[in-house]
Amino acid sequence: MSEIPSNLEDVLKDAHLPALMTAMVHMTGDTSWLKADWTPVYNPLSRGDTGLPEDVQADIRKRAAAAIREYLGGKPLQMPNPPTEILRRQMDFVAGAPIPEQYVDFLMDELALKGESSKDPKFDKPIHQEAARRLKVLVIGAGMSGILTGIRLSQAGVPFEIVDKNPDVGGTWLENTYPGCRVDNSNHMYSYSFEPSHEWPQHFSPQPVLLEYFRKVAAKHDLKKHIRFETMVEQVAWDDSRGVWRATLKGKDGKTEVVEASAVVTAVGQLNRPNYPDIEGIGSFAGPAFHSAEWRHDVDLKGKRVAVIGTGASAYQFVPEIAPTVGKLKVFQRTPPWGLPVPHYHEDVPEGMKWTLEHVPFFDKWYRFWLFWMTTEGFLPMVKSDPNWSGPTYAVGPENAMLREMVMESYRAQTADRPELLERVTPNYPIGGKRSVLDNGTWLAALKRPNVELITDKIVRITPKGVVTADGTVHEVDVLIYGTGFQASNFLSYLKVKGRGGRDLHDAWGGDARAYLGITHPGFPNFFTLYGPNTNIVVNGSIIFFSECAVRYVIGCLKLLAETGASAIEPKQEVYDDFNRRVDEANAGWAWGSPHVSSWYKNQFGRVSQNWPFGLIDYWKATLAPNQDDFVLEKAAEPVA
Ligand code: NAP
Repeated sequence: MSEIPSNLEDVLKDAHLPALMTAMVHMTGDTSWLKADWTPVYNPLSRGDTGLPEDVQADIRKRAAAAIREYLGGKPLQMPNPPTEILRRQMDFVAGAPIPEQYVDFLMDELALKGESSKDPKFDKPIHQEAARRLKVLVIGAGMSGILTGIRLSQAGVPFEIVDKNPDVGGTWLENTYPGCRVDNSNHMYSYSFEPSHEWPQHFSPQPVLLEYFRKVAAKHDLKKHIRFETMVEQVAWDDSRGVWRATLKGKDGKTEVVEASAVVTAVGQLNRPNYPDIEGIGSFAGPAFHSAEWRHDVDLKGKRVAVIGTGASAYQFVPEIAPTVGKLKVFQRTPPWGLPVPHYHEDVPEGMKWTLEHVPFFDKWYRFWLFWMTTEGFLPMVKSDPNWSGPTYAVGPENAMLREMVMESYRAQTADRPELLERVTPNYPIGGKRSVLDNGTWLAALKRPNVELITDKIVRITPKGVVTADGTVHEVDVLIYGTGFQASNFLSYLKVKGRGGRDLHDAWGGDARAYLGITHPGFPNFFTLYGPNTNIVVNGSIIFFSECAVRYVIGCLKLLAETGASAIEPKQEVYDDFNRRVDEANAGWAWGSPHVSSWYKNQFGRVSQNWPFGLIDYWKATLAPNQDDFVLEKAAEPVA
């Protein structure tokens, strides 16, 4: 029996109350926990405050504590598997309002109350198992998506090997070690749906915690024996005659090896090749100069004069961290970021919340459900372009303008003592045009420090001594840090991919990467990309959800091979073209597609090559299983050994 805290009512003060009430239905079998009077009323930036009077909340907690004491004392759960009608009521209750019917299947699947989901690979028939044994999948990358792919392939019984250039798992969470690096999606949702953690120390945990999570998950699923570290995949080439991929791997020792695989899955992320800006003289700086993703921990910044170029999501996190340490900090801003108010961005998860997650069955599920639902659409309705909008170009419609006003209120409050700063940190593009950051006040507080200077003049040159701006000023510094982002739209730039007839993927793309559902490519059989073109999200959801859907689809494609006896699968050209046409059309309807915005979401042609322009539910539906009609399936002349 678990030890019951003597002050349980107090402990429960930390718990998300609507999720607690919803979980109580399972514990007590009593649906009166869902009564109308107790329905939560959330505000748009709510952290779960219910709007219920304090005495009512205290009464609810008292009742819940009594039920939990009984349960921990040995009383069984009264309703572990509620009938659908009650489940529906629970969903509506925790959401604070009726959930539209079209979302129900999608949300039930994500909730996975019984621990089963459409994302579990079901390679359960002998035909699947037999085919699985004949496959071999090469996975490139051991970050969030690669680990996930390994887990799912392993569950399906498909042999696989993961190759990663790094010495450990973790991908982006291994590489980005800059001070202040943390996730900007609530951790209780930014985690695999099937591997919840009750231990997140913060709502948005720092990088070392994320890295530890991915290491633990990889270890739990015994993945390391499948991973080749410190190895680059330089090329993958499809052998038409034998229907296999031949991959050239290069190890740390410089030796190359060719391995064969029936399918290749790239899980390399979109944001891992540093973008060094095209500024005259770059490279001439005499002191240490490094990119945020290649942080030089050996460079002591204490008391130094430091320049930071860029004010995107990375700089937004590390500038407030280094500002108190350095002597003088010059922050070079080309475009200010939009910071959405999230006051608890750096806050710890209270101990009582952790206790409840660990000890109250289904509480974790319902809390995650709430987070997921709140971000299913998230701010999407507020970043939709209104075709009739004739207002200023810093908004794309009336709702977007309203959101801007709301955020501006927070900016004004933070700069009341520095009105000249307000103008310089106010973006002139619509919210949602670029990736917004989470604002708890630390960014502007850092910029207001006496040792920090925000410079908005254009950089014209870098010299051995520092940075020269258009006004002729030479900003002399000791250290130069690039917070200048990644070569995001340059998908798979370091991998040569040769498909049917030796066709090169990069030639096929011509610098304008595309895929069908972000995953498959005509002319490149059994070649799958995770977090591929047009699968990034801007103001809603979590990218782990996208990877889980995409991996389900990849496994579905392998299953289709098993069921049809085919050995090669690729999308029909017309299906791919039609999908990309729809994507382009839809992307134009969002703030990030606005012609008044430039960002890493767009490629060199100005086309949005990164973002998914539909709802989460649309990706979920589209990736439930491959539609055979979308594909060309081919039998190998010679079966894969
Ligand atoms: P970023 O958002 O692309 O920001 C790059 C910054 O460098 C921008 O301010 C950009 O200005 C500036 N810049 C680029 N080239 C420049 C030049 N030639 N001269 C002057 N300034 C220049 O990169 P990031 O901050 O590394 O973030 C990239 C993405 O990674 C984010 O959007 C986010 O998706 C992800 N990320 C997430 C987190 C998290 O919280 N979990 C943290 C970091 C990053 P312009 O805006 O004018 O181009």
